[in-house]
Amino acid sequence: MLTRKDDNNKKTIIDCQGQLIGGEKIIVMSGSCSVESESQIMETAQLVSAAGATILRGGAFKPRTSPYDFQGLGEVGLEYLSKAAKQYGMLSISEIMDASDIEMTTDKIDILQVGTRNMQNYSLLKQLGRVKNPILLKRGFAATYREFLLAAEYIMNAGNPNIILCERGIRTFETYTRNTLDIAAVPILQELSHLPVVIDPSHGVGLRQYVEPMAYAAIAAGCDGLLIEAHPTPDKALSDAQQTISPDLLAEIVRKGRAVAKAVGRTL
Ligand code: PEP
Ligand code: MN
Repeated sequence: MLTRKDDNNKKTIIDCQGQLIGGEKIIVMSGSCSVESESQIMETAQLVSAAGATILRGGAFKPRTSPYDFQGLGEVGLEYLSKAAKQYGMLSISEIMDASDIEMTTDKIDILQVGTRNMQNYSLLKQLGRVKNPILLKRGFAATYREFLLAAEYIMNAGNPNIILCERGIRTFETYTRNTLDIAAVPILQELSHLPVVIDPSHGVGLRQYVEPMAYAAIAAGCDGLLIEAHPTPDKALSDAQQTISPDLLAEIVRKGRAVAKAVGRTL
């Protein structure tokens, strides 16, 4: 198994244009759920970068549960995201839903995200094995660790070793939160695999008031990065408004999170 940790116990550190993912520093990826307009993502980039994020997120192809909800801006959204990231010296990350969109995405966006609903889209995973960009693979909302790691194995086996695992909550009997964030996934996946593990507390709980404590829990558990939805006006976000935090709160999470990171031998 290519994703399995071997006897020398070494972690993979992904060098994404000089940003190291899986090293001592915990990487903060933040931005809105969707790219909504050029000015919106530009303002978001400015605010989240000032708050401490170094990778800008924003969906252009949105896998919405309802076909009547905002579906994203598509290719032009990728362009706005790329421009905003460059403007503030950040890297970009965006979800890819369909193999036919890979070509237009790889040269615009630095890190490609596979969403929870596509974790077992094996033809997409195989195609992503052929690209050079790192892949952030989200855990399927009903996937076991074994199924999750086997999905990563598909990408790696097809030729792309740069995979970031992302725990974003799983479906349980609990309905109060959108998902149940599985914090244990951090040490367990890091024991089973050498790949970096990122936590997405936003989708993990689905309610903005719990994003901050879950972010600290993720840092304490040893995560290699955080993926957090933030928007200049969270209540007006076109998607996932309920779980979206303000850039001010993001800044506070980064500031206070540094003490937690220090306690577990990391930096933030
Ligand atoms: C997202 O990151 O906006 C997203 C759709 O995530 P998930 O695939 O975890 O639902
Ligand atoms: Mn979202």
